[in-house]
Amino acid sequence: MADLSLITPIEYLKGVGPQKADVLKKELQVFTIGDLLQCYPFRYIDKTKFHKVKELHPDMIGAQILGRLVSLQELGEKRGKRLVGQFKDDTGTLELVWFQSLSWLKKTLSVGSAYIIYGKPNEFNGTLSITHPEMELYQQKEKKIGNMSMQPVYSSTEKLKKFNLDSRGIQKLQEVALATVFRTLIDPLPPYIIEQHGLMPYAQALVSIHFPQNEELMAAAIRRLKFEELFVIQLRLLRNKQLNTQRYRGHRFTEVGEKFNSFFNEKLPFPLTNAQKRVVKEIRLDTNTGAQMNRLVQGDVGSGKTVVALMSMLLAIDNGYQACMMAPTEILATQHYNGLKELLGDDICQIKLLTGSTPTKARRIIHQELEDGTLDILIGTHALIEDKVKFKNIGFVVIDEQHRFGVEQRAKLWRKNIIPPHMLVMTATPIPRTLAMTMYGDLDISVIDELPAGRKPIKTVHFFENKRLRVFGFMREEIAKGRQIYIVYPLIKESEKMDLLYLEAGLEGLLREFPMPEYQISIVHGKMTVKEKDFEMQRFVKGQTQIMVATTVIEVGVNVPNASVMVIENSERFGLSQLHQLRGRVGRGAEQSYCILMSSNKLSKEGKTRLETMVRTNDGFEIAEVDLQLRGPGDISGTQQSGILEMKIADLAKDQAILAEARNSVIQIFQEDPNLSAEKNHALVQILKQRGSAISWDKIS
Ligand code: ADP
Ligand code: MG
Repeated sequence: MADLSLITPIEYLKGVGPQKADVLKKELQVFTIGDLLQCYPFRYIDKTKFHKVKELHPDMIGAQILGRLVSLQELGEKRGKRLVGQFKDDTGTLELVWFQSLSWLKKTLSVGSAYIIYGKPNEFNGTLSITHPEMELYQQKEKKIGNMSMQPVYSSTEKLKKFNLDSRGIQKLQEVALATVFRTLIDPLPPYIIEQHGLMPYAQALVSIHFPQNEELMAAAIRRLKFEELFVIQLRLLRNKQLNTQRYRGHRFTEVGEKFNSFFNEKLPFPLTNAQKRVVKEIRLDTNTGAQMNRLVQGDVGSGKTVVALMSMLLAIDNGYQACMMAPTEILATQHYNGLKELLGDDICQIKLLTGSTPTKARRIIHQELEDGTLDILIGTHALIEDKVKFKNIGFVVIDEQHRFGVEQRAKLWRKNIIPPHMLVMTATPIPRTLAMTMYGDLDISVIDELPAGRKPIKTVHFFENKRLRVFGFMREEIAKGRQIYIVYPLIKESEKMDLLYLEAGLEGLLREFPMPEYQISIVHGKMTVKEKDFEMQRFVKGQTQIMVATTVIEVGVNVPNASVMVIENSERFGLSQLHQLRGRVGRGAEQSYCILMSSNKLSKEGKTRLETMVRTNDGFEIAEVDLQLRGPGDISGTQQSGILEMKIADLAKDQAILAEARNSVIQIFQEDPNLSAEKNHALVQILKQRGSAISWDKIS
């Protein structure tokens, strides 16, 4: 039999076979021996430390306890069904609770036996408990693998467990895998990089991560593997970026012309902030290099990204090109269109709106005017990327609120001209640095880190339900001053039917407190048609209604400068970036604005942190960082579509330092050896060639 190596299909590993291979593929996406070795432990249990029951308290993250399962009982009915066990050591008793896999557990748990359990202690009505603990039968003469004090814990699933692939079983498999391929392991990183960054060699790192002899070796192995993972991603991203600049000629915007100037001198109603000026300049320089621009503009809500986009588009027009701007929703596209038209006036250039609800006839005219070049700027939704939409000469594309668009859609816009247009991507809210460097690592990044002068910071307060009357009173005062108010209710995604639940519950009280005809209320929610929503929205925009009650559909975009109060109901149910987005809907006019976070009395620790963060700061960059720490990268809005964030070991919330080190290292390599032709960089060329992944790198523009 030929030598087995990392790329050998998993079924050929001793002890695996077709059936186990099948579950490994389905449950863990393990297709090869290499994939298996990349299933790293997500945690280690320090086997030398046991806690006694009486030492447990709810602030502990987790504890390992040795004791005996003395009873097991099924309680509750239907959805409330649960399994409750009493677990005892010589200091006290603890409750173990399971809500899932009950029949499986009843079969496998053995009452009366000694177990080593691990889990997070909770306290409820004075009773200590652990929900879904890890259970391991205690065997006094336990055969340990190697000589470890750190016991790795692997993710497993019920299906895997049926094939004896619980954490233990997976570790045993890792041992076989390592023994099998050890001789063939070649360090993918070049020796000089290993040296430069003081990294543990690859083979040793694999051994130490699965079978750590001690904490130091384990830490070194983790660092090495994290570095490698982040390094490889940066290598690809920066290689991509470099190829883009080399491969794609860009339209050259050589002059700042009449349209740009007359807008700047005659129309612009306010002075640009320094940050806006800087970014406009960056774009001007970028579009005059002869290479295609791919730039991300990050800026907080209200930092004035739109006007930067507009000036860039005018630059394109001055140089004989068309421009377009794509927004994720119809409401937002319409607002952009109206806003830009107002800024531009009638005489500077031809601008139109194209969305899903543009009537066929108007649509045809737009198509025609795009092709013959009458139209300078097209604003729209996804409708822009349809194949029927053909430009005479598109030179500049703006994508607003990037995270709502897939990479695919970005790529489609690329192909709208023979020479791809310059791309300006704008984020809705700031993204933490580590995420930006990874998700958009191949783009140049501009930051608008300054709000227009004269903005009064929004005052944010958090109230529990008992302050509701006070809040109503405050709302009446603001309305009496001529202001308008948003009230936002959470959207319940899990249940379409429940979407309106919160809104309806709140509305009743609201209508009582703010009766017609003295008060007029707009209502917008997901169950309404676009037309209905638009109608209600317009009533609010025009000032015909004083209160806008909505589920989160207003999250993105809407601009009503006269609105000065944002009340967020059940605010503990919102994510941080969502809260920040919502708050950004007010504070757009000259008046002092307020954000009122209503919540129930029962707050989780995380919910509390979110609300406290909102009250403490208005800075979107700071909020984004907290959000990342709380939720991890996979849950930050907009990152879900991005396979690039699915990492084996690195964690963007925690590994800022390693990421910066890896990225700088790659930047330096490309500076010294742009084509990676040096002998010492041969291994890097191999990485780029071989280490394919699920991500299609071609499509990330
Ligand atoms: P965002 O970055 O959230 O997209 P917008 O571009 O919508 O922000 O700008 C928010 C508001 O601020 C708009 O009403 C816009 O006209 C205004 N604005 C933008 N730049 C400035 C500035 N330099 N001075 C004063 N107001 C500005
Ligand atoms: Mg915007």
